[in-house]
Amino acid sequence: MSGLTRRFLLTASAAAAGSAVLPKSLRAQSRRRPDIVVVGAGVFGAWTAKRLQEGGRSVLLLDAWGPAHARASSGGESRMTRGAYGADEVYTRMATDSLSDWQALSDRAGLPLFHRTGVLFFFPRVEPFLEQTMAVHRRIGLPTELLDAAALRRRFPQIDFAGIEAGLFEPGFGALMARRAVQTLVAGFVRAGGGYRQAAVAPPRSDADTLAAIRTVDGATVAAERFVFACGPWLGRVFPDLLAARIFPTRQEVFFFAPPPGDRRFAPDRFPGWADFNGGDIYYGFPDLEARGFKIAHDAHGPRMDPDTGDRTPSAAALADVRAFMARRFPALADRPLSEARVCQYENSSNGDLLIDRHPRWRNVVLVGAGSGHGFKHGPAVGRYAADLVLGRLATPEPRFSLATKAETENRAVH
Ligand SMILES: Cc1cc2nc3c(=O)[nH]c(=O)nc-3n(C[C@H](O)[C@H](O)[C@H](O)COP(=O)(O)OP(=O)(O)OC[C@H]3O[C@@H](n4cnc5c(N)ncnc54)[C@H](O)[C@@H]3O)c2cc1C
Repeated sequence: MSGLTRRFLLTASAAAAGSAVLPKSLRAQSRRRPDIVVVGAGVFGAWTAKRLQEGGRSVLLLDAWGPAHARASSGGESRMTRGAYGADEVYTRMATDSLSDWQALSDRAGLPLFHRTGVLFFFPRVEPFLEQTMAVHRRIGLPTELLDAAALRRRFPQIDFAGIEAGLFEPGFGALMARRAVQTLVAGFVRAGGGYRQAAVAPPRSDADTLAAIRTVDGATVAAERFVFACGPWLGRVFPDLLAARIFPTRQEVFFFAPPPGDRRFAPDRFPGWADFNGGDIYYGFPDLEARGFKIAHDAHGPRMDPDTGDRTPSAAALADVRAFMARRFPALADRPLSEARVCQYENSSNGDLLIDRHPRWRNVVLVGAGSGHGFKHGPAVGRYAADLVLGRLATPEPRFSLATKAETENRAVH
């Protein structure tokens, strides 16, 4: 047995929840050459691997550090799912399509992966984003409510709505427990016979028009018919010539505050996920999910950040920024103690559209990424789309996901 296979078997058996010994079927399968290798076990790679497995393919999932690890974009505590995307109906549909898969995964898991808290967006005036969202939601049949200032005050007295004219409330959406969800997904994929191995993959090389094999940085060769690279903010590292100038990882800070003891006004059964559009300078957050704290973040893109070497010390400036915002909108929480802070990175495309396309040279390679600060919720739909692309059964490619539309200058358009 090669070192690669031995280590893969050990890791896979550890990932198969509750089983110390690898099942015979999995052991046999892991010795065979996989049909497809997926590199990257964040939300996009994990769902792509699962979809390919559902399509009857043998799949080996590789990750340099592990599913939803601390520096992965999917490694955060919670991620919002919502259908409000202005006129960008493609994302409303993907979020809506994905919701039932998240719910099903959550129902099977021992702990909740999806909290249906509802999501509230509010705006200083009735603006195109709000009107377009309502038009799309009515067309699709989503039960989104349009609220005027009086209704907002009545329904959500925890928020100071000074200067706010309107809001929209999406009762079916809420919060995904990001890290837990990805790890649950990968454990299920392994239990169902999928292969998982912790291995860092070197930038691929081939003069041919297909890729026959990849190499890990410790020298092992992994051959397969097809490959998917879902490397999040590392995509530019793995494909420097192609993607280093088209994926922009930015430093983002997230803060959690402990509500006053016994104060249940910000509990998830009483308070939704929220975003203040704030004239385009968006702040967003969550209720006190699982007593982690009231979450708040400024959605503005931070400075460029290297996912390996970037400093993850929360900054005093960002903390002061969210505290000033809370003093304005959430006065009951303005002076509450910080319970946790995290620094993560968005992996933005030029305008915020996802990247799901074939490699321009290697016909058997698909690239998946550019979640751009809003990708997590779409994981199930991204996985389905990417698997269809890999297997050559995608009926109508979405031009917005193409590599050709990924420019080298940032011009954010998707919110
Ligand atoms: C602070 C913050 C808040 C966000 N909020 C939301 C939100 O509310 N709602 C929402 O929908 N989205 C949100 N997002 C966006 C979302 O989290 C990301 O778009 C999504 O998680 C990206 O997933 P991914 O699989 O592409 O990347 P990742 O999760 O980063 O996964 C990539 C994986 O590839 C692996 N990898 C990289 N290079 C190699 C290699 N050479 N060999 C092997 N493995 C490799 C890495 O180890 C990593 O595990 C947010 C993101 C951040 C940072």
